[in-house]
Amino acid sequence: MAIPVANPPLPMAFFADFLSALPEERRFCLPCLAQMCSVSEDAVRHELETLATQVEVSSLGRCWTCEQMGSTYRLRRPYSAAA
Ligand SMILES: [Zn+2]
Repeated sequence: MAIPVANPPLPMAFFADFLSALPEERRFCLPCLAQMCSVSEDAVRHELETLATQVEVSSLGRCWTCEQMGSTYRLRRPYSAAA
């Protein structure tokens, strides 16, 4: 995406929009999400906590990018930006 990377913490809508743009079936671990967003893992962790009710966590999922087994995240669907 061509969105300039802001200093953390990110605006919540940025991270939610980023997650909602990912294919539904793909789950990602925290380090990969941080890398894709070009932000720190702490910033991602904070955003995931902020979006807690919208985010589905698998404690033993496989990350789509690095294929590590562990905590993986994806946005619940349908995602409502108005929520
Ligand atoms: Zn990963």
